[in-house]
Amino acid sequence: MELIFASHNENKVKEVRKILGKEFKIRSLNEIGYCEEIPENQPTIEGNAKFKSQYIFEKYNLNVFADDTGLEIKALNNKPGVRSARYAGDHKNSADNINKVLKELDDLEDRSARFKTVFSLMTKDFSKLFTGIIYGEITKEINGSKGFGYDPIFRPNGYSMTFGEIDIRIKNEISHRALATNKLVDFLRKVYD
Ligand code: IMP
Repeated sequence: MELIFASHNENKVKEVRKILGKEFKIRSLNEIGYCEEIPENQPTIEGNAKFKSQYIFEKYNLNVFADDTGLEIKALNNKPGVRSARYAGDHKNSADNINKVLKELDDLEDRSARFKTVFSLMTKDFSKLFTGIIYGEITKEINGSKGFGYDPIFRPNGYSMTFGEIDIRIKNEISHRALATNKLVDFLRKVYD
C-alpha cells in the first residue's frame, strides 16, 4: 500500500513511517516532485488538512493524507487556532507568537488550552478525518528550549513541566500529533492490511 504524506516536513514523514512499518510505503511531497507550498488559507484546522489532501489527490490521483495543527486557547476564543504559525505575522516567528499570546493573556487565571492535530485521509475509497487533542494550560513564563513553536509555554495536564522542558521522546508519545497519527495508523491497518 502506497500513500503520499502531503507535507514538506521530513521529520513528520519519518515519524509516521516509523509507526506504520514496512507494509505501508509513505512518500513525501518532495519524493513525488512537488516542491511548492500547498495553500493554507482555510478558516479551520480541519478545512486546511482536508484542502491539502484534496489538492494533492486531485493533482496526482494518488492516495494521500495531510495534517494541520493549531493551539486553541479558551480565554482567546480558541485563538490562535488555524493561525498558529502566523499569529504575530507572516514571518512565522515562534518567539513573536509566544510573546503575543502571553501579552493577550496577561495575568488571566483561566489559561486552559489545547493542541489539536487533524489528519485528513483521501483515497479512492475514503475521505476521513482523524483528530488528536492534548489538554493543558499556558504558563505565565517561558520555560525550556526543547521542541518548537509554542512548546515553552504549554504545560500538558498531569505534568509539572512545559513541552519545552519535557523529554522529546515523552512529548512524541503523548502529543496531539501522536494521538492523531495513531488513529490514522489504526484505521489504515484495519482497512488496508
Ligand atoms: P503545523 O500545521 O504542524 O505546521 O503547525 C502549525 C503551527 O502550530 C506551527 O507553526 C507551530 O507554531 C504550532 N505547533 C504545531 N505543533 C506544535 C507542537 O507540537 N508544539 C508547539 N507548537 C506547535
